[in-house]
Amino acid sequence: MSELKPSLMDYTLKELESLISPKFRVKQIYGWLYHHYASVYEDMKNIPKALKEELDEKYLVNPLSIKNKEESTDGTIKYLLELQDGKTMEAVWLKMKDEQLDESGNICQEAKYTICVSTQVGCKVGCTFCLTAKGGFTRDLSAGEIVAQVVTLKKDNNHKHSRKINIVYMGMGEPLDNLTNLAKAIEIFKEDEGLSIGGKRQTVSTSGLSSKIDKLGEMDLGVHIAISLHAVDDELRSELIPMNKAHNIQSIMDAVKRFPIDTRKRVMFEYLVIKGKNDDIASAKKLVKLLADIKAKVNLIYFNPYPGTPYHRPSKASMLSFQEYLVKHGLLCTIRDSKGIDISAACGQLKEKVEVEGEGEA
Ligand code: SAH
Ligand code: SF4
Repeated sequence: MSELKPSLMDYTLKELESLISPKFRVKQIYGWLYHHYASVYEDMKNIPKALKEELDEKYLVNPLSIKNKEESTDGTIKYLLELQDGKTMEAVWLKMKDEQLDESGNICQEAKYTICVSTQVGCKVGCTFCLTAKGGFTRDLSAGEIVAQVVTLKKDNNHKHSRKINIVYMGMGEPLDNLTNLAKAIEIFKEDEGLSIGGKRQTVSTSGLSSKIDKLGEMDLGVHIAISLHAVDDELRSELIPMNKAHNIQSIMDAVKRFPIDTRKRVMFEYLVIKGKNDDIASAKKLVKLLADIKAKVNLIYFNPYPGTPYHRPSKASMLSFQEYLVKHGLLCTIRDSKGIDISAACGQLKEKVEVEGEGEA
């Protein structure tokens, strides 16, 4: 990582103010980065040429370029993004709610979007159901490479900086395994002079590194967490997520209870449903028990098959009866609608496709 050139997006406003003089230029530069989505120095019209040349020697503007893009009929757009060292990772633009029109056909409420970002190229956790895991771990993303995903996708979709957006850290990689850069990115997103995306609009999804959940909590960044639970007993969970042996279900539950959560909010538990593995009512029953004293909501996810996987997608009927059981027993439970199902939706699947088709990195 050290040989890579940092980008302006790697720094908070305060840090840039200590790196760049005169200081008053930094707010202007921040505006170019986060309000006008400048990709190169030439875009920054009111910054003196000499300063731009000086900065150009040390910092990139936007460290990402769009390598591939797949658009689904439901408005989901999956991006394959290339980093300066030629490595690739994914980010997804998700349309969560259509725009609302009033009686005369004018827009009275704009559409709502969420961006799913990656935190690493590859992943060390090695979940047996996950395509990202199959490629192993390449490297952490820098804070700027995380931030640039949101800038790049907002720019590509003409989404003004002032329009609200939610961020979920659910792309490639385990966010808590790259905690320093993750925390920095969260801070940069929150900057009032920048994108101004508050902590409550950011959700960190983790496979359950319990000690790091505590660390994230201590940082008090105001973000939500989502726990990728996927199983209700340690035996199956360790089969699906090998590091469960070191961070078992109980340790995760304890960490969640210590996490500073907005009292009006719930902790999201993601439960990947795999046919014949964890889709039975006995599992649903155990799940209710496990979450009994946590303000939780459950998101059921259909396992999304890919070539070579030993696992299968559950039937709609078993999904619905699993959900029905949870709801009947007082748990808030949604089924993640398969956004972008026609475009290799789950994490790691676009990257894999491009590489198989021979356009991928060497
Ligand atoms: N590493 C973090 C965040 C990224 S994984 C975590 O595990 O939480 C993002 C999501 O993709 C997780 O909820 C994971 O369960 C899901 N996922 C991975 N492989 C999948 C597949 N084959 N089908 C459906 N969802 C999958
Ligand atoms: Fe890593 Fe998440 Fe995939 Fe597991 S599901 S291998 S933690 S990206």
